[in-house]
Amino acid sequence: MGKKIIFSLIITLCLFLSINCKESENMNFYTLRKKMIETQIKARGINDKRVLSAMLKVERHKFVPVKFKKNAYDDNPLPIGYEQTISQPYIVALMTELLELKGNEKVLEIGTGSGYQAAILAELCKEVYTIEIIPELGKNAEKLLKELGYKNIKVKIGDGFAGWKEYAPYDGIIVTCAPKDIPQPLLEQLKEGGRLIIPVGDFYQELLLVKKINGKIIKQSIIPVIFVPMKGEAEKIK
Ligand code: SAH
Repeated sequence: MGKKIIFSLIITLCLFLSINCKESENMNFYTLRKKMIETQIKARGINDKRVLSAMLKVERHKFVPVKFKKNAYDDNPLPIGYEQTISQPYIVALMTELLELKGNEKVLEIGTGSGYQAAILAELCKEVYTIEIIPELGKNAEKLLKELGYKNIKVKIGDGFAGWKEYAPYDGIIVTCAPKDIPQPLLEQLKEGGRLIIPVGDFYQELLLVKKINGKIIKQSIIPVIFVPMKGEAEKIK
């Protein structure tokens, strides 16, 4: 009898400690996210309040491999396997801010990767459509986004060069891998008045903001960037 009581006490104590440990880990990550927003994002001029609060809410450490959890809020990209990376937090914030989302938009993302950018978008617009060419990454991201409760994100495995015609046109398109030139289907699937954010070039690229105004394509260069290359059809562009 005595042994049983001691045994249950030990189990209760272990449970209590593990819950407390999880809570304090979450608090630490929250503190790191706040610091990331102040020092990396606000400090570099991002001031869209909706973007800042989405970046504070979405738990970036859940989107990186376990061994990089402690680095999730560092000021750099991180490996996510299959030679791919989750973008630097500032770049995610900058590209998201450039979309100027108000809440009612339909957005297409090319390059789901970890699913982090898709989660940020899902906090800020109505519907997110995201395409990933590496099946394992796409499936993992889809599972995680579902577990986190996102109901406004659709993931497709395929070559994003062709866009996703079924749900076009899009108010915003965001490309997180770099083609040598802008894929024509993405321009066609951009709504009149819509915005496309895309890194274009070889090893070094420039981040472009592309607008469609009265059917005309207007390009604006934002900053130099380094993204992983776009695979598939894009590799055929010389
Ligand atoms: N947005 C991601 C980061 C993506 S890294 C995140 O938040 O984690 C770029 C991703 O683009 C990689 O996962 C890569 O596999 C994918 N990719 C490369 N070429 C692609 C293509 N043609 N179509 C769709 N995805 C592609």
